[in-house]
Amino acid sequence: MQTKLLINGHLVNGEGPAQPVLNPARGEVLVEINEATEAQVDAAVRAADSAFAEWSQTTPKDRSLLLLKLADAIEAHGEELAKLESDNCGKPYSAALNDEIPAIADVFRFFAGASRCMSGSAGGEYLPGHTSMIRRDPVGVIASIAPWNYPLMMVAWKIAPALAAGNTVVLKPSEQTPLTALRLAELASDIFPAGVLNLVFGRGPSVGSPLVTHPKVRMVSLTGSIATGSNIISSTADSVKRMHMELGGKAPVIIFDDADIDAAVEGIRTFGFYNAGQDCTAACRIYAQQGIYDKFVEKLGAAVSSIKYGLQDDPSTELGPLITAQHRDRVAGFVERAVAQPHIRLVTGGKAVEGNGFFFEPTVLADAQQDDEIVRREVFGPVVSVTKFTDEAQALEWANDSDYGLASSVWTADVGRAHRLSARLQYGCTWVNTHFMLVSEMPHGGQKLSGYGKDMSMYGLEDYTTVRHVMFKH
Ligand code: NAD
Repeated sequence: MQTKLLINGHLVNGEGPAQPVLNPARGEVLVEINEATEAQVDAAVRAADSAFAEWSQTTPKDRSLLLLKLADAIEAHGEELAKLESDNCGKPYSAALNDEIPAIADVFRFFAGASRCMSGSAGGEYLPGHTSMIRRDPVGVIASIAPWNYPLMMVAWKIAPALAAGNTVVLKPSEQTPLTALRLAELASDIFPAGVLNLVFGRGPSVGSPLVTHPKVRMVSLTGSIATGSNIISSTADSVKRMHMELGGKAPVIIFDDADIDAAVEGIRTFGFYNAGQDCTAACRIYAQQGIYDKFVEKLGAAVSSIKYGLQDDPSTELGPLITAQHRDRVAGFVERAVAQPHIRLVTGGKAVEGNGFFFEPTVLADAQQDDEIVRREVFGPVVSVTKFTDEAQALEWANDSDYGLASSVWTADVGRAHRLSARLQYGCTWVNTHFMLVSEMPHGGQKLSGYGKDMSMYGLEDYTTVRHVMFKH
């Protein structure tokens, strides 16, 4: 197992304290890895800063060829990476191999092509006797900070556009799920020049904090919680760094009387519980219209109770564990407080599973009300709430009445209504009659406390560049 940091092209052991890395399905320690020290963080940033001068002057074609090589290496090592990911997250191996690895390789391929296709506004004479043009140049050293829910996918979303645009990167994966990122760094060290991509391992306060506050880091790209995002923004305010923040979510799912109920039930069974609901876009805050409400709740309860949880290497497993015992207890706390409310009905699930792994039963809570904690706060587990609504105006008001603004979906047969709501929902994404579908060509990112900046798409690439004006006097 690769446990070394990547600093200036060298794989080196961390010199800080050792941290356990777990298999959450078995509750066992897989390996212990030494964190980077502050001196190693500094060395990684300095290596990225030195490499920037040359890397930023390479052509898009040259960068593109290296990103394509990395995509090929990811595919060639797909089974190994999927196994590491599934062992470290507890997620089903088949999902890691068949859903995630192809999507991860595609992200690198998309940005390899996108870097050669950046467009801009027309150059011209906006002042007589002067010609103006726009440039989009790389920003500098990027600190990329990734979460634990889709470890390698989030790394891809961060480093592919950053490198494609000509930046250099110091990556810090989550201390809980570093294994695929560490292996990726080893693969990348054979492909990219020294210092272009560096990796430091460790916790937020000991390693993340010195990284993001380092004076030579010009931009911080975080996918993580709102608390971490706001902590990083305030701790770096003095140095006015550029920020790219992908934070939490609490996706509203609005199901009208005229929707295809079976499709909606199937959609929530899949997209409310994928990755054990540890997904910032999870279809978790359901609003169902009064005409279909009872039938919908009954069908959803039956569908969710059929989800099979278990060990990651069992091909019939659909749902893995939560990432840590602490997170499982946090999810259990949300459910306990919800069912203690007299008006909330537990339809299925509701408790942690006995055993060494950190499993929680797939859970449906019905009759929730707009002000309930379970409707307002991100649970990040296999738990969905259902709330009854009367008409379109009420559904829209409740859907938008949230601090979050990442993803939403509308389920209806009425095309006009789908357009009306899509135009008014305050979310970075609205799906109609589906949920959770992501493609490399389209942007992913939030509004409100869910953050700002886009992952994937040309907008993601642009986020890692700075717009510059160059003017010539004739
Ligand atoms: P987290 O905020 O606890 O940690 C995220 C990363 O930040 C980790 O690598 C952590 O070590 C690091 N970190 C923590 N404190 C830091 C500090 N002071 N300085 C620098 N780095 C620091 O989040 P998590 O628990 O790993 O992930 C779950 C959260 O991520 C959820 O809220 C989820 O909604 C969010 N998420 C958002 C998206 C999105 O696209 N919007 C995608 C996935 C996850």
